[in-house]
Amino acid sequence: MQVRISDDALAIACGADRVAQRFTELGHAVVRTSSWGMHWLEPLVELDGIGYGPVGPGDVDAIMAGTADHLRIGAIADHPFLASQTRLTFARAGRTRPLSLEDYADTGGWLGLHTAREIGGEAIVDMLKASGLRGRGGAGFPAGIKWDTVRLARGHRKYIVCNADEGDSGTFADRMLMEGDPFCLIEGMAIAGLAVGAGKGFVYIRSEYPHAIAKMRAAALLAAPLIAPFEIEIRVGAGAYVCGEETSLLNSLEGKRGEVRAKPPLPAIEGLFGCPTVVNNVLTLAAVPFVLAEGAQAYAEYGMGRSRGTMPIQLAGNIRYGGLYETAFGVTLGQLVNDIGGGTASGRPVRAVQVGGPLGAYFPPALFDTPFDYEAFTAVDGLIGHGGITVFDDSVDMAAQARFAFEFCAIESCGKCTPCRIGAVRGKETIDKLISGDSVASNLALVSDLCETMKFGSLCALGGFTPYPVMSAITHFPEDFGPERQAAE
Ligand code: SF4
Repeated sequence: MQVRISDDALAIACGADRVAQRFTELGHAVVRTSSWGMHWLEPLVELDGIGYGPVGPGDVDAIMAGTADHLRIGAIADHPFLASQTRLTFARAGRTRPLSLEDYADTGGWLGLHTAREIGGEAIVDMLKASGLRGRGGAGFPAGIKWDTVRLARGHRKYIVCNADEGDSGTFADRMLMEGDPFCLIEGMAIAGLAVGAGKGFVYIRSEYPHAIAKMRAAALLAAPLIAPFEIEIRVGAGAYVCGEETSLLNSLEGKRGEVRAKPPLPAIEGLFGCPTVVNNVLTLAAVPFVLAEGAQAYAEYGMGRSRGTMPIQLAGNIRYGGLYETAFGVTLGQLVNDIGGGTASGRPVRAVQVGGPLGAYFPPALFDTPFDYEAFTAVDGLIGHGGITVFDDSVDMAAQARFAFEFCAIESCGKCTPCRIGAVRGKETIDKLISGDSVASNLALVSDLCETMKFGSLCALGGFTPYPVMSAITHFPEDFGPERQAAE
């Protein structure tokens, strides 16, 4: 009998190591795998394909005695949460050992790189363009056009930089991919190197991800002979949110302060050490091996409008079934929160959902028919960002959430431009006045005016996107800001 337990950081945080140790003490061999992404079931134990979860060390004897039916979820792969997904980027999640080259090759690994070596740079970029893949870090810029710009740029050296500074609240897809399927990211970077003529790549990982850093370092060593002459180096960030912005990240990689650079020049023309550089998010690069192995059309046939392929959506916050849900673009917000996520973990009504991290807009249930699509979200003053969905029940105070957005921006601002550096502080002060009921109408107008200035006057998305959570909270939940609030208090 084979016992399989994830060694993903979330599973370990839930006690997976202690559960694995108990199985070992009883004489069973334990295989540590990647996570299936059903977080509410961790630690999830798999015995010959049958799942049990969440399992504590004290449950192990009952499982082996066949008396743990209350933990039995049946065949894991058939679980409705997984069976309804379209896993292209996370196809190996839960199924393979993260650092096993054998498992990777047995599940289609390196086929994309093999194709890339056969067809060469221009054809690789053409395939990527035809796939419709857009940057999964938040901006949604077409990856093929970015790669083509770097490919055609003049430079004695070119670089591939993977942005793994995943800092949005409620997001974990980059971490899961790096911990669970590190060779997939490495293959995607090697293909990018071939496409644009780059010999070296860097993975910039936030220091708060020690498991991902260790896995990526080990995987880069194991894969080195297979991707040569392309080389990959793992670098660790120091924790500044703004280093997730591509030019700050490049400054940090160069050993400088993580401060935003003015654009132009674009990093594709003048990036790392002044050389043409592809900067892509983990999920963008990890989607590339599928495109090269299965063909651009196989990827592009999923999705809607200009949002092609699949998106690994992260369900988090006050949600009953939280985890990683990869599906084609087009699924509605309501389906994700209520049908798939099961509503709130607290059992209270859902009041608001924030999509796209701390700088994403808050959506009320009235907008739950919005399809997960870059353009549809823009049309309702929102953004998909990195695909993080954070759920709040009816106990949430939306004025406090708006205040938090300004406070977050004030703390994380790099200080380079005035609308963000000063605006965030003044915004927080003005929300405090609103909360205390001071001159509500004029202070609401002031916040609106300030948000307009920050949106259009900030140098980067940190200052420029802070208005999204603030204005969506005011627009969709006005009762938390006006006289009704004071009456309720
Ligand atoms: S918007 Fe904020 S984080 Fe961005 S450059 Fe300006 S001060 Fe720095």
